Amino acid sequence: MGRVVVGVDLGGTNLRTALLSQDGVVLDRHKEATNASEGWKQVVARLVANISRHQETTIERGMVLAAVGVGAPGVIQLDKGIVVKSPNFPDWNNLPLKQELEKALHIPVVIENDANAAALGEQWRGAGKDIGSMILLTLGTGVGGGIVLDKKIWHGADGMAGEIGHMTLLPDGRTCSCGSRGCLEMYASARGIVKSYQEASLASVPPEITSAQIYEAARSGDAVARKVMNDMGHMLGIGIANLINIFNPEMVVLGGGVKDAWDLFINATREEIMRRAFQVPAERTRIVPSMLGDDAGMVGAAAVALQSLGA
Ligand SMILES: [Zn+2]
Repeated sequence: MGRVVVGVDLGGTNLRTALLSQDGVVLDRHKEATNASEGWKQVVARLVANISRHQETTIERGMVLAAVGVGAPGVIQLDKGIVVKSPNFPDWNNLPLKQELEKALHIPVVIENDANAAALGEQWRGAGKDIGSMILLTLGTGVGGGIVLDKKIWHGADGMAGEIGHMTLLPDGRTCSCGSRGCLEMYASARGIVKSYQEASLASVPPEITSAQIYEAARSGDAVARKVMNDMGHMLGIGIANLINIFNPEMVVLGGGVKDAWDLFINATREEIMRRAFQVPAERTRIVPSMLGDDAGMVGAAAVALQSLGA
């Protein structure tokens, strides 16, 4: 039956692995808690155990496990497969993840940034199937992103490309964790929406309010919540208009939890895109929700593994 690959989504909360065929069909999958607090040795050991289990499945089915792709959060030194640092894994400092896994598994391993992997996953098997150039924005707690040009992840000189969440929208805006101000992430993420709602409300807002509660309030007619979501849509639209003018992509895919509020922001987003981007690319670019959900990173990591084989 030929070559198969394993894709790994190494998240701060969950560790997902899957066995995929060359055509992107998921043949086997596994999910468990990452338990990052147990330390890197334990996490790597768990990773090795899971991949080995998939390898046994390939042998039973008469297939060959050709490579493993891992999507990991944080700063990755791509050529060496080193996790330089990762906010979700405090003890991962310059961890040679590729080397550790290859030593244990005797299979080629390739490491990729998790947001980039998710973008490639959506392009390969999700919303961007059959198109070449696509940008993914993951609107979650923060805003992540990945740029796929001609079916390849655009890494930039240092592997740091695609930090779309840190595009400046307001020069003197909210202070961001990246050290800059007014980044897209501060307005278009779940955290940004909560902040906007707290700022806009005259009455006191419980500090533990969630973005989902704000969407609910907007849908039941809360004028402040509606305005907050509309303003968020405009900010997102400014960011996407910039991306359209620079990259002229065929598609912009929006993923992450904020996608659930699609109807509350998308009109403002489209309006802003039409106002700011050049007409031809603005009209061409399809703005669509992601399709793979939580599978995007894992599927994309498998695609990275396949590409590393020249497949
Ligand atoms: Zn920032």
